[in-house]
Amino acid sequence: MTDLGQESEVLGATPRQLFIDGSWRDGARGSTFGVEDPATGRVLVEVSDGDADDALAALAAADEAQAGWAATPPRQRGEILRRAYETLTERIDDLSLLMTLEMGKPLEGSRAEITYAAEFFRWFSEEAVRIDGRYTTEPNGNGRLLVMRQPVGPCLLITPWNFPMAMATRKLGPAIAAGCTMVVKPAELTPLSTLALTQILSECGLPPGVLNVVTTKSPGAATGPVIADPRLRKLSFTGSTPVGKQLMAAAAEQMHRVSMELGGNAPFLVFPDADLDAAVEGAVVAKMRNMGEACTAANRFCVHESVAAEFARRLAARLGAMKVGRGTEPNVDVGPLIESKARDKVVDLVEDATKRGAEVLTGGAAIDGPGYFYAPTVLSDVPPQARLLQEEIFGPVAPVVTFATDDEAIAQANGTEFGLVAFVYTSSLERSLRVSEALEVGMVGLNQGIVSNPAAPFGGVKQSGLGREGGREGIEEYLNIKYVAVHL
Ligand code: NAP
Repeated sequence: MTDLGQESEVLGATPRQLFIDGSWRDGARGSTFGVEDPATGRVLVEVSDGDADDALAALAAADEAQAGWAATPPRQRGEILRRAYETLTERIDDLSLLMTLEMGKPLEGSRAEITYAAEFFRWFSEEAVRIDGRYTTEPNGNGRLLVMRQPVGPCLLITPWNFPMAMATRKLGPAIAAGCTMVVKPAELTPLSTLALTQILSECGLPPGVLNVVTTKSPGAATGPVIADPRLRKLSFTGSTPVGKQLMAAAAEQMHRVSMELGGNAPFLVFPDADLDAAVEGAVVAKMRNMGEACTAANRFCVHESVAAEFARRLAARLGAMKVGRGTEPNVDVGPLIESKARDKVVDLVEDATKRGAEVLTGGAAIDGPGYFYAPTVLSDVPPQARLLQEEIFGPVAPVVTFATDDEAIAQANGTEFGLVAFVYTSSLERSLRVSEALEVGMVGLNQGIVSNPAAPFGGVKQSGLGREGGREGIEEYLNIKYVAVHL
């Protein structure tokens, strides 16, 4: 358990201002907003509230720094990332406490996220020196085709609150490696992890102007003029589908490149030949990581009718035994939801399902007291009309539905506007490949409840978005292709 002294020390060491052109400064209006601990409802610190003038100053700094940064040797860019990877790893204790304080997840989960976040820097430190092109002979043998990759230019990177560090490094890592400068707008609910990350990158030698950070409680008003500005060349957004659509429409005016990592509605399919113990373990991870507040969280458990009752019973036993509490306390498995609005939505979705006939096997209610806690919940006999089968739950609730045939399972899985990830449990190689091919998603977890990996291309199809983060593909989002027709 952490004590108040440790908490105030970590908070005291974290910057609270905007970071523009290498300097920490207050916003133009001089106003601030509070960052709350979702486990207590207490305001932890006040952070500068930037506006459009601040965001445009940040863009001007990014634009000014762009040419010099693009010309910096790739090895040098990679080494800054490598040092930042090492520093994040060394400071994991303080950074995980900071993350737990602002976001609520248990310390163990914060440590796992910081390790994951740091790995994006390690991965892209290695990719910085592997940006290649090609030189080929024209098919008619006369001329030559030269293809090169160059940094896109200044980027606006907008991140959500649920993984405050990893959603930032997944964008910053490839942008830095590719030679792009950037303006970052972290989520209002969790700006502190990004501010701590910025301080680390600056200490590790990132030149002024390359990374600029604007915290704000007016995201549309602050970023709108930046998106409308032709000096910006790319928008990378992680967040909800409705906001993503709005930003993509705005970006279209300048034809900015866009990457969109949006919402999900992941099906978790359990076939009759699955190892049920492994499926239950995978389900716990796929559902409960981050209290269910993950775009990849299993949103629907589609289980073959021959094993559904047993699967639901075992899952309820596991979720019912989880310890709920403030993430700084020992052995806590499940922290609070991010804010009261988020908890109210979970309450509504579960009420809607139970009114329509779903049975509560465990949980099923909010937990009283300060903080925004909701009990881990398993619902069986969930009717197809229940809203939580179509909407992102973003909470610790596992609805179980049944299927009779593989075709029915695939139809259930694909019966959503989203297409981020699906989880498949089966012991048949033939079935696992056939089902993986048929699923309309960007990622499949085959006999495992987690897919996130810095070395893999993360992203979705349908209304889950466009583009990929991580893997060899991740850096492509920050590179333009130029072709030179060579007359010999
Ligand atoms: P959100 O409300 O869409 O917000 C995401 C970010 O966009 C925040 O920084 C937010 O700022 C900002 N924003 C909101 N309105 C804006 C506007 N008009 N102009 C510019 N920026 C704006 O989403 P969220 O609730 O933070 O995050 C949860 C969602 O993210 C879920 O749907 C989840 O599935 C998705 N997500 C997707 C992935 C993925 O990789 N596919 C990963 C993680 C999360 P404020 O904080 O000030 O509102």
